[in-house]
Amino acid sequence: MTGAAARYDGPVLEVTDLVKHFSTGSGVRSGSGVVRAVDGVSFTIGPGEILGLVGESGSGKSTVGRCVTRLVEPTSGSIKLLGTEISHLSRRAMRPLRRQVHIVFQDPYSSLNPRLTIGQIVGEPMRLHRTASGKELDRRVAEMLEKCGLRSELRDRYPHELSGGQRQRVGLARALALEPSLVIADEPVSALDVSVQASILNLITDLQRDMGFSCLFITHDLSVVEYISDEIAVMYLGKIVEKTSRERLFRDPQMPYTQSLLTAAPVPDPVVQRARTRVVLRGDIPSPLDPPSGCPFHTRCPVAVDRCTVEVPPLVGVTSPDHLVACHLVDRDTGAPDVPAAAAAQGSVETALPHGAV
Ligand code: SF4
Repeated sequence: MTGAAARYDGPVLEVTDLVKHFSTGSGVRSGSGVVRAVDGVSFTIGPGEILGLVGESGSGKSTVGRCVTRLVEPTSGSIKLLGTEISHLSRRAMRPLRRQVHIVFQDPYSSLNPRLTIGQIVGEPMRLHRTASGKELDRRVAEMLEKCGLRSELRDRYPHELSGGQRQRVGLARALALEPSLVIADEPVSALDVSVQASILNLITDLQRDMGFSCLFITHDLSVVEYISDEIAVMYLGKIVEKTSRERLFRDPQMPYTQSLLTAAPVPDPVVQRARTRVVLRGDIPSPLDPPSGCPFHTRCPVAVDRCTVEVPPLVGVTSPDHLVACHLVDRDTGAPDVPAAAAAQGSVETALPHGAV
């Protein structure tokens, strides 16, 4: 850690009641409206912690990452990075804090400047922030390439000469060049082949152990989030609907949405796999342009009751203060109804298929 980060011992990131609404324009032909991409999201990431933010396409998870890095301006709410409120800082005021937070994008090709060599790309943050120059810059670039498993001779190549996995390693080397306190990894492996995904995930966990950064890891893939996270927050239609430790989420999921998703996750034992029932969620995630009233999940929930259509369930501690769940049917002391059993009674099940993605 560097500078302010080394002296600060509170949470690396505190997000409170974050809201991001996008206007869809106006006019008779195009119509107008508000896309409620993020609708009151709160979480904290401690030093050296990895929070997995998982959700379907359209859940708002990537918008959260872009708000935290200030690539988009939040509508309201608080974002504290190393104790400093950054949600409405000007570009100029944000500049010293820029080196503390970096983002790794999904598509390693389009996120790298095709006109720069690999050495220039990895060295660019250090030159811009004036943390190294000349021989020291060369040395640091070589060190970062080595840390990210890239041969030093690649520094004179261009992005198009590298494989997808190598390009994502370059993206990581660039993101970590300034030794940030926080890395936002936005679907960093979903554009890669499955065999390459595992090596990049291993690299991220090794680098995180070695360098000690905190990480917001955004993904649609439950098996990825299970592999890499300390804590997991499940998002649905702009809201966090369940949040707890990785171990607890996979052992004892509570929110009917999470329970349904986990019935679709593969089990290594083929006998257990065959015996499982998979809850089928009807339809797609609703449009954030016109979200349902009450619980956002009620249009697809196999156990919804009348109350769910009118009343938004609060995110509260269930069976343990650090297991937060948003569902009217979950009892604070005894936990959740058995969603697969309820779905089976309704006939909303099928034989499980191996499928780890949301
Ligand atoms: Fe389902 Fe109602 Fe719980 Fe929402 S609040 S998850 S609709 S039971």
